[in-house]
Amino acid sequence: MEINKNKGETIGLVPTMGALHDGHLALISFAYKFCDVVVVSIFVNPTQFNNASDLEKYPRHIEKDAAFLKKHNSKTLVFTPNVEEVYADGLKSESYNFGSIVDFMEGEFRAGHFDGVGSVLKRLFTIVDPDKAFFGEKDYQQLMAVKKLVTITGQKVEIIGCPTNRNEFGLAQSSRNFRLNDTQLKQAELIFEALTQARSMFDDYSILDIEKEVKKRFQQSALELEYFSIVKTKDLIPTTTKEPKEAYRGFIAAFLGDVRLIDNMALN
Ligand code: AMP
Repeated sequence: MEINKNKGETIGLVPTMGALHDGHLALISFAYKFCDVVVVSIFVNPTQFNNASDLEKYPRHIEKDAAFLKKHNSKTLVFTPNVEEVYADGLKSESYNFGSIVDFMEGEFRAGHFDGVGSVLKRLFTIVDPDKAFFGEKDYQQLMAVKKLVTITGQKVEIIGCPTNRNEFGLAQSSRNFRLNDTQLKQAELIFEALTQARSMFDDYSILDIEKEVKKRFQQSALELEYFSIVKTKDLIPTTTKEPKEAYRGFIAAFLGDVRLIDNMALN
């Protein structure tokens, strides 16, 4: 892959783990609004999985992905490094001081996940040297952690977040959806419905009441709720009280069979 930065072109990087879907395409189209050249990296990063079977089962179809990207925009550059290229200094994670933003939710339930994300992105930013890098709000905690990462590493890349792309029923597009059958895809819509309900209850009900309602809906469903958290957007710390002028978000992780799905939404 050859990029001529001297031409003054703005380079955007969209890091992905492949198994590409419309959510990725929305992110890539978003990146083209800001950049002349868009590089999509496809790399299933071993250090961000805390569960060997999750890593093994992660869907991989690089050739299909490359064709999907080409059809979307033939100018998009695809970067598919192997593990040795990314982790030339050995397959290991560094630890980063991300602060409170990784203490709960994904940080709590996936030990070491964000250190793995930081370790791979630091390397991808070094290899590709983009001016901007794009991340989906679907992984909101990741987006905030990456913003923090570049302040820690001092890398000169601007981190830009893109709204979550959903199917017509609200289900957030995800590579993990490829592992769901048609019945499960319908069942998974509960995640969006619960977040939407939390948002509509937010002004009039206490956080504890909202949590109770959401948990009840999951108990009556095929999904197993791992967490539902209402947090302050600025620090991602769960709270049970509301303060005026403060922004809040709801976050959900739930299992459908052995497929783990996450989503989140602004509540006010
Ligand atoms: P992944 O391949 O799942 O690691 O995702 C690569 C990037 O695409 C991350 O920045 C994700 O947040 C983003 N992404 C994944 N799904 C969506 C979606 N439905 N809408 C917007 N961005 C997404």
